[in-house]
Amino acid sequence: MALVDVKGVSKRFGGLTAVSEVDLTVNAGEVHCLIGPNGAGKSTLFKLIVGLYPPTTGSIFFDSVDITAERPYARVQRGMSIKMQAPSVFKELPVRQNIQIALQERLSGAECRAEEERLLALLNLAEDSGKLAGALSHGQQQWLEIGMALALQPQLLLLDEPTAGMSPEETYKTGELIKSFNAEGMTVLVVEHDMAFVRQVAQRVTVLHLGKIFARGSLESILEDEKVAEIYLGKTHAH
Ligand code: ADP
Ligand code: MG
Repeated sequence: MALVDVKGVSKRFGGLTAVSEVDLTVNAGEVHCLIGPNGAGKSTLFKLIVGLYPPTTGSIFFDSVDITAERPYARVQRGMSIKMQAPSVFKELPVRQNIQIALQERLSGAECRAEEERLLALLNLAEDSGKLAGALSHGQQQWLEIGMALALQPQLLLLDEPTAGMSPEETYKTGELIKSFNAEGMTVLVVEHDMAFVRQVAQRVTVLHLGKIFARGSLESILEDEKVAEIYLGKTHAH
């Protein structure tokens, strides 16, 4: 049932403990949202799960296998795919070619072209497929990168602030896209600030604060938690 199991994981950068003794389970088939104020350690926890950093302490399991010592590439081969916080599409290349590059990992020929069309349509990028990726709006670049992550057909999709810089309408479409992939069986772990988006997609929520798990549970229980409102919603409303 647990696709990802993070056990007692900490990450220190010199004197700063960015992630502290975190236990986190992501169940197969769920959309799990990780929320918390800026600097809470969300992106660091992501990078630990995907293997971009080794943890200072603790272990990480994927599908019951201890992957703590595995490199990112090995984790991708096991079925993880990540979209980092900063978009990293190939801006000098056309949109279509960005998708092709991602698909080439597993498909070729007619199969690759069919999947290319399907993804472009799904991402609302068919009309702009000939444009350079750098000429897209910020929201569209985010979609393109989500598409590149999806092209790997991961078991687990990890998204770090996928809706940053998107309009409310684009944010809503992104939520629907994530839900449609989840309905096909993909497990999703998403870091997000936008509470409307979290409401739209989350089945379970974990709140991180100062590197530690602060609260977890159903969205309803999190929203009712006054301590969460203080650390998270309060700060969000302030800026
Ligand atoms: P969040 O994504 O929740 O905003 P981060 O995980 O990016 O938080 O950062 C958590 C804390 O760790 C912050 O204080 C940040 O400055 C620090 N931090 C993150 N990455 C590094 C790094 N590579 N080196 C040093 N400190 C870092
Ligand atoms: Mg972050």
